Amino acid sequence: MDLDRHLRALISPLGVGDELVPGAVVTALSTELGLRITLEAGGREIHIEVARAEDGGRFAARTERLLLRYRDGGGRGGVDPKLGLNLCKALAARASVHERQVLDAIAEDAARAREIDEGGTRVREVRVERLLAPAGTPAERHHTLSPYVGCLVGCRFCYAQSRVAEVRRLALLPEVPWGSYVDVRVNAPEVLAEELRGLPRLPIKFCPIVSDPYQAVERRYRITRGCLETLAAAASPPPVLVLTRTRLAERDLDVFTALPRAWLGVSIPTIDDATRRHFEPRGASIPERLALLGSFAKAGVGTFAVVQPILPGSIPELADALAATCGSVSIDVLRGEFGAVEELADPRFAHARDPGWQRARAEELASALAARGVAVWEGELPPGLGG
Ligand code: SF4
Repeated sequence: MDLDRHLRALISPLGVGDELVPGAVVTALSTELGLRITLEAGGREIHIEVARAEDGGRFAARTERLLLRYRDGGGRGGVDPKLGLNLCKALAARASVHERQVLDAIAEDAARAREIDEGGTRVREVRVERLLAPAGTPAERHHTLSPYVGCLVGCRFCYAQSRVAEVRRLALLPEVPWGSYVDVRVNAPEVLAEELRGLPRLPIKFCPIVSDPYQAVERRYRITRGCLETLAAAASPPPVLVLTRTRLAERDLDVFTALPRAWLGVSIPTIDDATRRHFEPRGASIPERLALLGSFAKAGVGTFAVVQPILPGSIPELADALAATCGSVSIDVLRGEFGAVEELADPRFAHARDPGWQRARAEELASALAARGVAVWEGELPPGLGG
């Protein structure tokens, strides 16, 4: 199911570029992490998120069956509550005109959708009308690209799981555990080829937020590879950034080297593989991840690592390994326990829940990397990839 089409129908005739209320213009629509309408108002970016009424939670306005809430899109803290409320009310007024028809259409799509159950793994082949999603703060504009939605790597602390589950509920799909389902966007390479013709040449980030682009199904479907080939064949390929926790990217080294500006990133939360196994049993081992980075660096592809969250293990050894394989490193702390409550309750790892421990380790790692001459970055794009 392509929820994108339904979101557009929900707020129609309003679309990207239109004014919702005087001074507030719709700049983007997105459905990967829930239904989201992004507006620019008073020089700042505001996201309005739409959820089903039965999901509950805080909201600023509602229709008969939907809740609308707002949040700041620029990562700079709060939105003026009066403005947020007015925008939500104005959108709710529009949505209430179409909601019955749109929710009925979603139900019809759900009845037609076919999910293939492969020994407990639910794989759905879906066709999308749009692929690239605008993302980032004004200083780091880029597009995200998700060949898949849902992730069979299934890291317990993955912060995407509640948001993707929300989208599944909106699409009337059964509730199943994170890590057991994935949507395969089978027409992604063709849609990408079409979109590349009309969009600004911003960096494209193969989105690790809702999926891993190199999870197991990629071996069979080759959607990530197809998208990379489309980018390599473009008249003027944009910078490309791919982040993974698996080793399958090694298959596509030839396509990475055919791209003029490509970066491969690997998530490495610890140097200790026993710790990795405890938290990410289905991800590649730490030696495999480092070997992947090493082989890409040797072939001249840009490399980086993302250390998020920070898990127990030797910081000096981690810094040594990253310095040997990465051009730069992004460090971030645990953002919530999500499905990893049990793993983090284990006495061997319980100290990693402490925000103070996370901050101290982040600082220690940043210093160790700086001492080894490795650039440490914050935000969404590594150095040299700013839009
Ligand atoms: S690999 Fe990434 S997207 Fe997949 S479950 Fe782990 S953290 Fe989430």
